[in-house]
Amino acid sequence: MLVAELIVKARDGEPLSREEIDYLIAQYSEGAIPDYQMAAWAMAVCIRGMPTKQVGYLTTAMLHSGDRLPRDQDGVPRVDKHSTGGLGDKVSLLLAPLLACCDVRVPMISGRGLGLTGGTLDKLESIPGLAVDFDAAASSRLLRQAGCFIIGASDRVAPADRKLYALRDVTGCVESVPLITASILSKKLAGSLDALVMDVKVGRAAFMKTLEDARRLAVSLVETGRKAGLPVTALLTDMDQPLGHAVGNAIEVNEAASVLTGSGPRDVRRLTIALAAESLLQVGRAESREQAVERLEQEIDSGRAIERFRRMIAAQGGRYEAALPLAKEWTIVAESSGWLQRIDCKWLGEWIVTHGGGRRKLRDAIDHRVGINVQNKIGDHVERGDVLCNLYVDEQPDENDRRRFIKAFSLEQTETPKPPLIHERVV
Ligand code: URA
Repeated sequence: MLVAELIVKARDGEPLSREEIDYLIAQYSEGAIPDYQMAAWAMAVCIRGMPTKQVGYLTTAMLHSGDRLPRDQDGVPRVDKHSTGGLGDKVSLLLAPLLACCDVRVPMISGRGLGLTGGTLDKLESIPGLAVDFDAAASSRLLRQAGCFIIGASDRVAPADRKLYALRDVTGCVESVPLITASILSKKLAGSLDALVMDVKVGRAAFMKTLEDARRLAVSLVETGRKAGLPVTALLTDMDQPLGHAVGNAIEVNEAASVLTGSGPRDVRRLTIALAAESLLQVGRAESREQAVERLEQEIDSGRAIERFRRMIAAQGGRYEAALPLAKEWTIVAESSGWLQRIDCKWLGEWIVTHGGGRRKLRDAIDHRVGINVQNKIGDHVERGDVLCNLYVDEQPDENDRRRFIKAFSLEQTETPKPPLIHERVV
């Protein structure tokens, strides 16, 4: 097979056969196809798209470049959730232990943050002693101990995707529905799951800016997953503002724990329960949404969910007994009154990265204590002198930063409606 001919086919919008896609991925994984040819092919897919059938071929080819996690033959369903990422999105930290209380296993393979939105593994690593690197045998033990884990992908989880994603990242080829679909699903299929719920974020602070784009990605994930034997349900959820109040690493772990103890922001609780309820319905652990929600509420209110969170952390070598320490606190105060209309999430994310709470390059170290507590939600009325946000950083923010934060919270004189938390469900 000539790789140049496969690139020409992709460029002209002609579908590749299963054999051709298998060949491309296998040869690229082995280093037999150079990056420049693979980048040309990926760019052709970005521009011309790819039919669902071929997305399925690509997904399985990338899955088979590595191994699948072993599963116990105990009949307990394995479920997972994946989010396309957003500011303050700490749902995974709560959802894994919460679902593990409901007779399902949650083998969650997660990622690190790069750029403006944080990664679940970085958040977890705010907890002293906690490890995220486990091989397949050790991860099975974690699952038996706690019913859930949140760990990083080993080199054996879809290695072709790892290589291709790094290439896409530096060649302008990330924003492609077929490539994103195959990338996410190949890793999730490696988790030997029975069901997956997708949280597709939509809004100014999300990858997908419009409902239409988010819907396209959700439909692609649902259809490709179904064809690969993995039931996928997707919720399209709001990302015009941070989820909850906390943005950062340690601060988000603290907020997640507070929600699991029955306090904390309502939107975090509602979204976690909505996504977890989808999982319970998918694997028949609830007969109706109402029953699923009631069960999940009980697991939180009884204290079982926070106990499971601590058990998961202990199994991974960490200890979470009291709120994690943060850097020094500073407050930013409103200089006028009005309804909060918009939050410049890009600025909040950039500030965190600039102050060491996120990374620009994969090997950058993180200061887990850096963070922001956003006081208000879009649609809230703010009075002059009210705190807009608390900043956690050792050095006092300068006047430029203070002005920039005030500008980041647009206060208007007309009342602004509160955006819905969940826009749509795609099945
Ligand atoms: N997340 C992934 O895992 N893959 C993509 O291609 C994009 C986001």
